[in-house]
Amino acid sequence: MAAKALEKTGTATHVDVVIVGAGISGVGSAYHLQEQSPDKSYVILEMKDTFGGTWETHKYPGVRSDSDLYTFGYRFKPWVGAPIASAEEILKYMGEVIEENGIDEHIRYGHRIDRCSWSSEDNLWTVEATRLSDGAELTFTCNFLWMCQGYYNHEKPYIPDWPGMDQYKGQFIHAQLWDQKIDYTGKRVLVIGSGATAATVIPAFAEKAEHVTMLQRSPTYFFCSENKNELADRLREIGIDEPTIHRVVRAQIMYDQDMLTRRCQTEPDVVFEELKELVRMYAGPDFEFEPHFTPKYRVWQQRLAFCPEGDVFKAAVSGKLSVVTDTLETFTEKGVRTSSGEEIEADIIVACTGFNLSVMGGIPFEVDGDPVDWHDTVNYRGMMFTGVPNLVWVFGYFRASWTLRVDMLGDFVCRLLNHMDSLGAKRVEVALRAEDKDMEILPWIESDNFNPNYLMRDLDKLPQRGSKPEWRHNQDYWREREEIPAIDLDGEEFVYDGMRQVNAVREAG
Ligand SMILES: Cc1cc2nc3c(=O)[nH]c(=O)nc-3n(C[C@H](O)[C@H](O)[C@H](O)COP(=O)(O)OP(=O)(O)OC[C@H]3O[C@@H](n4cnc5c(N)ncnc54)[C@H](O)[C@@H]3O)c2cc1C
Repeated sequence: MAAKALEKTGTATHVDVVIVGAGISGVGSAYHLQEQSPDKSYVILEMKDTFGGTWETHKYPGVRSDSDLYTFGYRFKPWVGAPIASAEEILKYMGEVIEENGIDEHIRYGHRIDRCSWSSEDNLWTVEATRLSDGAELTFTCNFLWMCQGYYNHEKPYIPDWPGMDQYKGQFIHAQLWDQKIDYTGKRVLVIGSGATAATVIPAFAEKAEHVTMLQRSPTYFFCSENKNELADRLREIGIDEPTIHRVVRAQIMYDQDMLTRRCQTEPDVVFEELKELVRMYAGPDFEFEPHFTPKYRVWQQRLAFCPEGDVFKAAVSGKLSVVTDTLETFTEKGVRTSSGEEIEADIIVACTGFNLSVMGGIPFEVDGDPVDWHDTVNYRGMMFTGVPNLVWVFGYFRASWTLRVDMLGDFVCRLLNHMDSLGAKRVEVALRAEDKDMEILPWIESDNFNPNYLMRDLDKLPQRGSKPEWRHNQDYWREREEIPAIDLDGEEFVYDGMRQVNAVREAG
């Protein structure tokens, strides 16, 4: 159903909901808003000229998902291709969702949000944006902000400040800024890093480059598999309809992932042996795992790098790929030198060194004239924040597909908005309850459980968590799929129209 038309008030454009970002989160959230709160007017503000977010930003060779699209796709739109998809296929899928549901008319492309300010007097957010095509400064007001801006800076990837970079005479680029004009045919390519991005670019480079070297500080776990889902193929063969296939295959994959996650905790060594066995299927029985493929951390403390058809290992056994496990001491004129003194010469150096975290898109926020320091807030289930009314951040999962949480929070936000309407409330805020008075306040991430570098580097920019389950993003889809739909919106932690001040109790206590 089409959402109600935008109202213009003075120079500001008013809508019920502003969705920030037209990535997979923003588009999915818009779908749920239209379906479940059809009376709400909304606009998606997106600074790029098109939708897709992550899948539009990254253009390096071979760019693809590392989750299966049955679960990375939305629950409401069947995925009909191979499980691992290229960025192009993901964009096509998202484009269909936008078109089929009339979401396009709500997206304002080329609109960069520069500031968001909340007024408790008006119960409104004021969102200031720049229209990048002509520099016009525009103002939107809304009752609710649905933050779907992702978690990293799309323009500035993380590049360590390596010594000697200015001496290097070859071509240096970070994968996130890859320029499709770069021709690596017949060249020596050095890839710095060993995570999911490195695992993606290496097989693609290996096809045309003279040689590829991967320089890693420490090894990563790889999960090798064919890029197909036998159950989906079989169900298709016997004529089952696509929505049913989508539902059943999602259930199968989520069950298998749940089992794997649990086993990673209870029997990590057995799981590692199984991962090695999968590698041997592609690299042969004598493949040597020491020293380059034996990680120091426990399996699943960081995301497993998916390796479709064992492509990284095939490149290694073919001699096209060599791996060096060492730290980079300095760049040189011809390449880099490692701490153990090894020189690696390269025509092109590609940094796969990850992201710079960007909390709330780096947008300055104010509540009633006071700047918001997100680190002073405590997160409620990784989506709402104490002291910041009428706002939800869609932050997905690391160990399961991000989009599972987009659908889940879509249901939650619409339920919340509809509940507010039924109460006649204009403002909702989460606040610590009396029973949380002595709760321990901790960093957002439980580093012994999950510790990717880009989060660990910037923990002081992230909201904090409490020691109780409600006050943390537990990264556990299987628990949340029971807990989030069961949240009692009349629970003490939800404060409507400022009716309860548990924070005052906490401070007084
Ligand atoms: C290369 C790569 C591969 C990945 N593969 C997977 C995978 O296979 N499975 C998985 O689960 N996760 C994966 N991830 C994580 C991935 O980022 C998320 O799954 C998901 O795509 C994030 O979607 P999003 O819409 O929340 O954010 P994004 O994709 O980051 O999109 C946010 C959008 O908000 C816009 N925006 C930001 N700030 C502003 C502003 N101030 N004003 C206006 N617009 C703004 C941005 O331009 C962008 O379009 C991958 C990440 C990367 C980088």
